[in-house]
Amino acid sequence: MKIHVLNTGFFKLDGGAMFGVVPKTIWEKTNPADEFNMCTWAMRSLLIEDGNQLILVDTGIGNKQSDKFFSHYFLHGEDSLSGNLQKLGFSKKDISDVFLTHLHFDHCGGAIEWNNSKSAYRPAFEQANYWSTENHWEWATKPNPREKASFLTENILPIQESGQLKFLERTADFTDNCFKDIDVLFVDGHTESMMIPHIKYKGKTIVFMADLLPSVGHIPLPYVMGYDTRPLITISEKEAFLNRAADEEFILFLEHDSVNECCTVQHTEKGVRVKETFRFNEI
Ligand SMILES: [Zn+2]
Repeated sequence: MKIHVLNTGFFKLDGGAMFGVVPKTIWEKTNPADEFNMCTWAMRSLLIEDGNQLILVDTGIGNKQSDKFFSHYFLHGEDSLSGNLQKLGFSKKDISDVFLTHLHFDHCGGAIEWNNSKSAYRPAFEQANYWSTENHWEWATKPNPREKASFLTENILPIQESGQLKFLERTADFTDNCFKDIDVLFVDGHTESMMIPHIKYKGKTIVFMADLLPSVGHIPLPYVMGYDTRPLITISEKEAFLNRAADEEFILFLEHDSVNECCTVQHTEKGVRVKETFRFNEI
């Protein structure tokens, strides 16, 4: 197996919304805010070459939304999903599987694009199976008012209409599935049935943290995003996960941390805390 990091660009989100009940005087030390109170976040995907599968985990925000929409998120940086795929020598047609941790726009926007005449949307990866899970799909296609702005119909419905949608079964916390070297943890605090891939790689377990742990700054238990639909569930899921991650020396891959790609964690008197930070290619 080979794994590549694909940076799809940076964006900005309100610092207060990202840290929930934690006051700015504390979070701004690790995440400085601009004059609009916005902090910078990465959108990193992983590209996994495994046998005859080429699996893309999350896709970033994409490029099909209006200028008005994007003006709220201050996209910046030179990276793009298709540009970085090309640099690795792949085209979009080579992707066999798109694994979507959940359907919030900053995770799945790049999964769908305009057609050539800009008259309709289509899957950006025409040969790929797109993986979600049934409970999350139901949740995202009948959104509650609080999450509605994050579930954009143009990111979601074309997946189903194309016939490329597949569901991973939620049979247990860790389930066997069609990905040979990937186990999936299902969590419900951030949104219903978010999928957290645990990838076996070089004798280690790499965990794609998605929005269970957006950044190193979110490791202490009360540091939960205001976006989470069930914050107390997030806290108990994060606690169980971080204890296991410290015990089993997992490598945490951080989709949104603007500085740190990866970290490990350790038990301390204060609870689980960061141990080391490093780049993925140092593994
Ligand atoms: Zn999310």
